[in-house]
Amino acid sequence: MSRVTNADIATVFEHVADLLEYEGDNVFRVRAYRSAARTIGGLVESLASVRADPARSLTDLEGIGADLAGKIGELLDSGRLGLLAELEKRVPPVAFELMRVPGLGPKKAKALVAELGLTSLDGLEQACREGRVATLKGFGAKTQAAILGNIGFAKDPAHNRLLWNDADAIMRGLLDWMRKCPEVRRVEGAGSWRRGRETIGDLDLVVESAEADAVMDHLGSWPETSAVLLRGDTKTSVRGPHDVQIDLRVVEGGSFGAALQYFTGSKEHNVKLRSRAREQGLSINEYGVFPLASTAGVGDLPRGRSRGGADEKEVYGAVGLPWIPPELREGADEIDLAEHSALPELVEIGDVRGDLHMHTTATDGEDSLADMVRAAIARGLSYVAITDHGQRVTMARGLDRKRLLRQWAEIDRLNESLAADGPPPIVVLKGIEVDMLEKGGLDLPDDVLVQADWVVASLHYGQNQPRDRITARIVEAIENPLVSVIGHPTGRLINRRPAYDVDIEAVIEAAARTGTFLEINANPWRLDLDDRHAAAAKRSGVKLVISTDAHSTRGLDVMRCGVLQARRAGLEAKDVANTRTLPQLKKLLKK
Ligand SMILES: [Zn+2]
Ligand SMILES: [Zn+2]
Repeated sequence: MSRVTNADIATVFEHVADLLEYEGDNVFRVRAYRSAARTIGGLVESLASVRADPARSLTDLEGIGADLAGKIGELLDSGRLGLLAELEKRVPPVAFELMRVPGLGPKKAKALVAELGLTSLDGLEQACREGRVATLKGFGAKTQAAILGNIGFAKDPAHNRLLWNDADAIMRGLLDWMRKCPEVRRVEGAGSWRRGRETIGDLDLVVESAEADAVMDHLGSWPETSAVLLRGDTKTSVRGPHDVQIDLRVVEGGSFGAALQYFTGSKEHNVKLRSRAREQGLSINEYGVFPLASTAGVGDLPRGRSRGGADEKEVYGAVGLPWIPPELREGADEIDLAEHSALPELVEIGDVRGDLHMHTTATDGEDSLADMVRAAIARGLSYVAITDHGQRVTMARGLDRKRLLRQWAEIDRLNESLAADGPPPIVVLKGIEVDMLEKGGLDLPDDVLVQADWVVASLHYGQNQPRDRITARIVEAIENPLVSVIGHPTGRLINRRPAYDVDIEAVIEAAARTGTFLEINANPWRLDLDDRHAAAAKRSGVKLVISTDAHSTRGLDVMRCGVLQARRAGLEAKDVANTRTLPQLKKLLKK
């Protein structure tokens, strides 16, 4: 079996796309590699097994033609790609570092390398400070200032971590594999993955078994394991897909809950929990809950039999607390809330009834209106809003009045046919994602918007404007009675681009005053609003809407990423507008 994993191949193809773009290659060729990387990244079965199956062909996969199938074969056989080696010889390594600076695409990076002879990010920083970047053709003082402001972002290792959704794909494959091991009695993922953090450093796994060696061997033989980094009696660390480190701990049954609690963290939460235990004469560690030795001072050593640890409930129960959901374990006020039986009843994916932000082939989506609606029915949703881009988004062929009204007429007909044989499986709302224009106002007039069931207002252009301008544009949209919700309110892209400079308190205040919803965009790159801002919105009485912003039928599956973010914010179902039935939602919409 080949040791080259799907994730490896997707990474190589992404890399090739960047390098081709840097070289100014044909845009279609660049796009082909990018979309192949996406297809492969979302594949459940391994490419090696597809190729090995005589009844199938790699070219059956979406976007994989004969040429790319050949490249996949080359990678599976040799672990290398001749094309990549050639490109890497021609493109200097500094180019990759430069392209991680938000706003620096391959073209600009290339100009910087060619004109300034840069060899590092530090060199770029110095060139900016000395004003040498501003003098280059196509740059100018404004661009130079923006680059300088974003270099710190690119340097920060926190912006180089795995997105939760990518970590989750690895974790699910890993858990499936570990459950196949006959010696494994229980297995759970722990750490920041379990707490639903937006990015993940490494993956933690806790296994209950009496045969630690067999379990560790099993992890070592996972086809996606590329190296064993460390091995002890009951713990091992290996390197998995995307070079992520996986830490496995094997414990006996009586300690499983204690170990899971310990390795789930966060550190801050565990410190608070342990100090509470100490006050009660107890000690919590990864093996269980123990009475402290009676003598004070040096007596902080646990002794005697465990008071519990087989499951997490026992651990929390031993110190007089109910079980605390992992998403809340960040060392904020969750232990206080638990003590006073005031923990929120967190929203769950099953509470979500509708998805109110998605695109179709009318603008930059990959699937048709009918396909999106079919996919939404298959996912059990009872209503969706189709929200393609307004006309300002020319790059995505944004809809003008005429095309939008035509789409809405199509939606009317679709709803009619869905309701032809009794109660419809789903209701499709006529929506639009309008743009808040750079100069203020929206990109479609009120006499069109008044005909919509649902209006998302988003800010895609002029993101470098000063704080008061950006805030004024958003508050103006919030105050427009036809706007239902503000889409991805801060514009950040995790690992890629910081939020624009916006007074989020003023946005929340205006939303509370007018009854406008704020979005938690569930796209794993966005998660916008984030947990802190969503919690602040809830405190001000603003209702949130969790939306996928799907650009394909597959994109509808990221809803759970948004739900996780909402849970981390402490939101309950009642705080989230799209947990309502459609009639309830309509009542909640401002007039
Ligand atoms: Zn948008
Ligand atoms: Zn959108």
